[in-house]
Amino acid sequence: MADQLADTDKVRERVDAYAAWVTQLRSGGSVPELHPDSSDPLARLAQELQLLADTLGRRERELRQLFDLVETVEQGVLVEDVLSRIFDGFAGLIPYERIGCAFLSGDGTHLTAYWVRSKLGAVQVSAGYSQPLAGSSLEQILLTGQPRILNDLEDYLRAKPESDSTRRIVLEGGRSSLTCPLIVDDRPIGFLFFTSREKNTYRDVHQTIFRQIANQISLVIDKSHLYQQMIERNRQLVEEGRKLEESASHDALTGVLNRGAIMRLAERAFADAAKTHKSVGMIMVDIDHFKRINDTLGHAAGDEALKEVTRRLTGALRQSDQLGRYGGEEFLIIIVDAAFETISKTAERLRQAIAVSPVDLGSEARSITASFGVAISGGATNSAQDVIAAADRALYAAKNGGRNRVVFDNPDLGIAAAR
Ligand code: GH3
Ligand code: MG
Ligand code: MG
Repeated sequence: MADQLADTDKVRERVDAYAAWVTQLRSGGSVPELHPDSSDPLARLAQELQLLADTLGRRERELRQLFDLVETVEQGVLVEDVLSRIFDGFAGLIPYERIGCAFLSGDGTHLTAYWVRSKLGAVQVSAGYSQPLAGSSLEQILLTGQPRILNDLEDYLRAKPESDSTRRIVLEGGRSSLTCPLIVDDRPIGFLFFTSREKNTYRDVHQTIFRQIANQISLVIDKSHLYQQMIERNRQLVEEGRKLEESASHDALTGVLNRGAIMRLAERAFADAAKTHKSVGMIMVDIDHFKRINDTLGHAAGDEALKEVTRRLTGALRQSDQLGRYGGEEFLIIIVDAAFETISKTAERLRQAIAVSPVDLGSEARSITASFGVAISGGATNSAQDVIAAADRALYAAKNGGRNRVVFDNPDLGIAAAR
């Protein structure tokens, strides 16, 4: 009788201890491990309690890891960064050696690989790889909205030898896969593909893990993808604007400034000179007997001659000098803040640069020369038109004087031969 009472007390003591242990676990405190040394029903209960504590602990660690993952992924701005964070962040939660991301086209008909990171063999499904969605098993996954496990890709390929993407993944060394649909507000945007080099890697628990954060992951990927597209579009617009500006101000054949642009520069140079009192020199260039080239060798040869003359002029000028195509085979050069000697030397250097050697015009190489009219502003009173008119007069004089020469004019000084 006394023994029985003692037993009852012992049982109560043990039950109280387990109850206290559960209370402590429930309140989030750390609990000692329960390792009962007997095998009575109470001990079995203690074992179950310990297993429950282990499961809860694992769940908590997993949730914290998922929470951390979502948090770091959300810090990514561009989709590349977001996907890199996903690759690092899922380690320990889902097994994989490769993650790929593919997006649906705007009309939802095609799926295009966008990003991949892999520790398998050489990538065979790389960015840009595109396939129609219709009739594929992926279409089915989007309908269910649930991740799909394929635990034997070689077997799957034997059953579906027409699946090009599976063939490629197997070639890369993938043996099982977890395919996760990315869906934002019921709108499918693409897929994340987890791939393992081992068969039978994926379990229901991995589907569950992805499902828990599928919404957040889909949303972050979608937002960052849109943002990246916006940045890319913006870059294109800037580039298009630059090209438009370029074509509006540059001559299509020779690539140098067109007449409008070189005239605007001339006006600006004079406006600046009025304040700074710097000189502005103008050199007007006209190719000699250019019509003969067109007439004897054809228009294409004429175009080639214009391009080569432009190259020779550009090569003989300083960076700060401005060259523009003023008319058919006429060029205007603006040189700011240079003395008369410098400008006439420049003109002479340009003349020699053109005449130095025959120009290859396809069917034959031909010597080309040009005539030069040079004028320089005589003070703040000159306008761009005055000085251009003076350079034009000098050019006319150069032509009359026998061509292939430089003639200097000054609106104030009158014509003076510089060569
Ligand atoms: P000069 O020595 O007196 O300057 O004689 P020129 O033959 O050079 O002068 P002219 O003004 O009689 O002829 C210029 C020619 O340039 C006429 C025109 O058809 C040609 N031309 C103008 N623009 C282009 C072009 O873009 N390409 C080609 N191939 N020819 C052009
Ligand atoms: Mg001409
Ligand atoms: Mg000419």
